[in-house]
Amino acid sequence: MKNSLARYDGEMKPHHHIINLDTNEILDIDPSEIGSFQIPEKIKQFNLDSISINFFVHSKAILSRFEELKASRLKKSNY
Ligand SMILES: [Zn+2]
Repeated sequence: MKNSLARYDGEMKPHHHIINLDTNEILDIDPSEIGSFQIPEKIKQFNLDSISINFFVHSKAILSRFEELKASRLKKSNY
């Protein structure tokens, strides 16, 4: 069974994704942008069909606000 991402994906060729957890936006990444990487040893017990890498990200603006909050909480907990 294919995963739910594939069902809504217009791009049919194997590719990777950047998934923005803040906006739920999904960006396609062409495999040529990734280059080569190590395939885990455990894969060898299966017949590999395809590879899709998901980069789960946060928007930078939202993350910096989150980090500010975290930093101010850390300061308070020091007292
Ligand atoms: Zn896609």
